[in-house]
Amino acid sequence: MDKFCVFCGEKPEEKNVEHVIPKWLIELTGNPKRKAYFGYQHEIKPYPKRRAFSFDAFKFPSCASCNQKYSGLEETTKSIIEKMLIYDSVSAADINILLDLNIFDCKMHMKGT
Ligand SMILES: [Zn+2]
Repeated sequence: MDKFCVFCGEKPEEKNVEHVIPKWLIELTGNPKRKAYFGYQHEIKPYPKRRAFSFDAFKFPSCASCNQKYSGLEETTKSIIEKMLIYDSVSAADINILLDLNIFDCKMHMKGT
């Protein structure tokens, strides 16, 4: 199966990997090794078994350049989330950045389907 960059959809150049859920966010939400279930292993008969992934192992290939390009957005987002966690105020610009991240995620999802 061909691998493609989770950001641009092309064959990864200078191969890298991207955690679907950023490592810092996984750590904020609890045990990074806890299991999440995505789909089934249909080759296991007679009853398919659920596919289990630890959150920190849930990652996709990416180009090094694409990963670098979006790391700035992730860092900016992280600082906004950290402000929210200590009940510091966030600006309208901060909220726009968070909303832009959601739009970015939706675009990635649509491209991958
Ligand atoms: Zn790419």
